[in-house]
Amino acid sequence: MSSFEMESKLDEDPSVDRSLELSGEQLQQLVSLVMSHLREFIDSLAEQPAWEFEGAASIARSVMEALPDKGTEPAVVLRRLFNELLPYGVNSAGPGYLAYVPGGGVPHAAVADLISGTVNRFVGLWNGAPGLAQMEVAVLRWFSDIVGYPATAGGFFTSGGSLSIWSAIVTARRCKFQGELSRGTLYTSNQAHHSVSKAAMFAGLPPENVRSISVDSAFRVCVDAMREYISKDRRDGFVPFAIVGHAGTTNSGAVDDLARLADLAAEEHLWLHIDGAYGGFFMLTERGRGLMRGIERADSITLDPHKALFMPYGTGCLLARDQSHLRQAHQLRGEYLMPGPDEEFFDLSDISPELTRSARALRVWLPIMLHGIEPFRSNLNEKLDLTELVAQRLRQLDAELDDRLEVVSDPQLTVVAFRLVREGFTDEQNDDLNARFRNAINASRRVLLTPTRLHGRYVIRICILSFRTHIDRVEACLEEIYRAARAV
Ligand SMILES: *Cc1c(COP(=O)(O)O)cnc(C)c1O
Repeated sequence: MSSFEMESKLDEDPSVDRSLELSGEQLQQLVSLVMSHLREFIDSLAEQPAWEFEGAASIARSVMEALPDKGTEPAVVLRRLFNELLPYGVNSAGPGYLAYVPGGGVPHAAVADLISGTVNRFVGLWNGAPGLAQMEVAVLRWFSDIVGYPATAGGFFTSGGSLSIWSAIVTARRCKFQGELSRGTLYTSNQAHHSVSKAAMFAGLPPENVRSISVDSAFRVCVDAMREYISKDRRDGFVPFAIVGHAGTTNSGAVDDLARLADLAAEEHLWLHIDGAYGGFFMLTERGRGLMRGIERADSITLDPHKALFMPYGTGCLLARDQSHLRQAHQLRGEYLMPGPDEEFFDLSDISPELTRSARALRVWLPIMLHGIEPFRSNLNEKLDLTELVAQRLRQLDAELDDRLEVVSDPQLTVVAFRLVREGFTDEQNDDLNARFRNAINASRRVLLTPTRLHGRYVIRICILSFRTHIDRVEACLEEIYRAARAV
């Protein structure tokens, strides 16, 4: 091909479509079309069912289509997205989502994503976007203050708690461990989220070297049992290097005795990581600070803003009491990267696993700048109060029923676990009864509750954490429980 022909191909061929750009006006039109759907979505959230599974498989299959050569009208694509694809599954944005660990997703954060996606600045290197990169440092400084960390602290945003815990364990391994990894051991409670074992697996530790320590009647790890296991392991030639404690377990919201864990970690020279993915932000409340005394002595802390800070999914973070430890574990540079900034500033990619990623801080910064932290705090206090109320009401209901309604875990944060116990039933029969009980509660679709196992038995959890869940939905949930308890 001559250079002339090449040019004509570049300039003139009308059959070649390169129209990826939107003018400012076209962008505004597209966003406004999206907005009309989102407006309806937001305004109808309270009426939307809490879940819908019927027909989900065929809708999911319909997505598996061939790569399209040509585009489709925005209105058609959006209608399909909002009307056909989105209504299935669990409605985790709605007020009836009392399953797993909710958060809701404050819409301001979605607006922040629109901004960061459009300006598409590079935050992995400070020079790429000093304002946005430093914003991440600033927001993590706020978080460090919330947990009581000193000026040496720092951290980074992750896509969630799982990757945060992974980086924490990699950092612990780097800072506290030498030798053959097959001998390394890590200590946590038998209530740990499975992401702890998964992180240890990613970090190269044999799965059986994660020691699951027993818990007390309130599901807090037995620190003495942990101490004994550590001594025994040392005698057997293992090399203990880290403890993972909990500021709110997923199962029951249990908060370990963090001060005693910090003492143990100090005595044994182990890294102490606190998994605060669910509960860490309760440090904003007085009750939370009372429960989590000692958290500031941990070497690192996982927080999940997409849970108790009500951010959209994809927002986790890791904090370290001494940021230089993160650098020690994560720093490695390519020759194509510009040299880092001077002493006052640094490249986020030097203290974290990722290079190119979105400006995650903006989605946290914007809502906090627009509201201040106060409404976040009062939402958390409201959820604590609502959970107390649920526990109280379940006890009242117990007195009115023929079956026993057992509150298996008293709320420490915002989880209550409960189960029906029918006289004369075996444990297995009671498990089946509770599975039916849960289905009967969820059947109205006003709420969605999920089960777990505590002391080996099937229990039903209520986790109140969405910023959209208030007293009216909690009353609705209790009504469904009353109704279902009499019906099963
Ligand atoms: C949710 C959760 C995790 C995992 O975090 P993801 O953000 O889901 O990856 C870890 N630990 C606890 C206690 C959690 O509640």
